[in-house]
Order: sequence, then C-alpha cells, then structure tokens
Amino acid sequence: MNIQEIVEILVRSGIEPNEASKEVKMLIEHFCNYTAKDIILGTPLDYEKLEIVKQKAQLRANTRKPIQYIIGQSYFMGDFYEVNEDVLIPRDETEIVVNHALKIIKNNGFKKVLDIGTGSGCIACAISKYAKVDVCAVDISDSALKIAKKNAKKLGVGVNFINSDLFSNINEKFDLIISNPPYIPKGTKVQRELGYEPQNALFTSEETGCEFYKKIIEDGVDKFLNKNGYIVFEVGISQSELVKQYFENNGFVDIVIENDLANIPRAISAKKSYNK
Ligand code: GLN
Repeated sequence: MNIQEIVEILVRSGIEPNEASKEVKMLIEHFCNYTAKDIILGTPLDYEKLEIVKQKAQLRANTRKPIQYIIGQSYFMGDFYEVNEDVLIPRDETEIVVNHALKIIKNNGFKKVLDIGTGSGCIACAISKYAKVDVCAVDISDSALKIAKKNAKKLGVGVNFINSDLFSNINEKFDLIISNPPYIPKGTKVQRELGYEPQNALFTSEETGCEFYKKIIEDGVDKFLNKNGYIVFEVGISQSELVKQYFENNGFVDIVIENDLANIPRAISAKKSYNK
C-alpha cells in the first residue's frame, strides 16, 4: 500500500483525482502529524501511519462524509476552525465575502458588526481577527454556538455570541450586518456530501432561496442598522439580482456585487441611506 493506492480508493468512489489527492494530503497532515513540506519531500510514512490514512480514506469513500468532518477541522482565512456536523463547513467562497466586508469596515471606520447565522463562527472570528471592531454573532442553534465559542477561544478573538433567531434576541444597532444565510432553494438536488451538513443551514423553505435575505433586510434596516450602515451577504448562483432588488425596494444605495474566483456573483453589499 502506498499513497497513490490510497488516492485510488477515493477516485474509485467517484471523487475527482485532483480533489482526491488534496484530501489524502489533508489526511496525512492531520492524522500523521506531517507538514505539507514532509509530503513534498516524500518523507516516508511507516506502515501504521499509512494504515490510519487508508482507514480514513475508506470511511470517506464508503460514506462520502466530507473530509473536513472526518478530520474535525476546516481551513478558513489562514486558520483552522473546528467543525462537526452541527455546523456548515467554511467555504473558500465565503473568504471573498469576508474580505468584501473588511474593506467596507476599514473604509468607513466602522466599530460594530453583527454576523447572523454564524455556524462555526468563521465569519465573526475572521472579522474580529482582521479588523478592530466589536463583533456580535448570533445563531439559532445552541450546538453550533458551542463550536463557534470554542473556535473564538482557540483563535484568541473576542466575539459576543448570542442564541437568536435572526434578530429575536438583539436590541441594539450595528454599523455592518453580515450573513451567509441558508440559500439553497427547497427541493434542489445536491451532492451526497451536503447530506451531512445541517440542513437548516443550507436550505430555505421556498423556491427562490432568498427568504432570509428579504427578512434580514426588511426586519433589520430600521431597528438594527445605523444610518450609513451596510448589509453584506453571501449569495448563491443567480440570486444577486433579486437581492439587489430587495435592497433597492428598501431604500439602500451603493449596491456592489463581487464575484468569487469561479467568477460567480458571491458577495453583495448595500448602504442604508436614510435615518430612522
Ligand atoms: N455555499 C453553500 C453550497 O452551495 C451553501 C451555503 C449556504 O446555503 N449558505 O454548498
């Protein structure tokens, strides 16, 4: 048994070869305490270590459970975040959304940020790490908040976590509200891996996938957003135009859409222009 044969276990289960070799590297780094450099230099793995990697690869191939849940962590904006099946796995695309928000925060000297539906806490923690702001983060799930709190502690960042169904337990105003809410339209056929993620973090109960954008804009604008404050969302494929309309209908200005690395509109931001 060698590394190529382990990659082959994943490829035979239908995982793309590039993805499969990336995942086997992740298993080696995590379970064998190897650095990426050890792997590049071909430092040999002893039989026992190879056996562990093989077992984990077999688990991945048989169940199609995401590799991040098998390892128990996921890399996001320069840090490892603990994850389990109570929280969505942080996505590369979300880094674009966080960077988009960080630019707005810095350009406007903002001080108070709210993250809605924080899950693993990755957005809130990254903002707290890379900007000098007070971050409050809410989620409806206590088990998600438990992981989010652990992540904030591990990274040494201060975030105020609150159990709240959107704004239900919030009673102050913020300069910027950010959210990566559930946005996959009900009934969408998705890959097997997504079956392991919390379904209420992925799917909306209606067909546009836009219910949470609408709610957050309409419920948030008057009571929870300061004048000249911004809302920043992660959006799914082909949702940016509808979300733009919601913003316009509610008097927002300076609407900006930013594409991700796959050139899909992914981040949308807008500014509240009036005082209320
Ligand atoms: N980006 C995720 C996906 O398509 C969905 C995340 C979400 O619904 N917020 O897998």
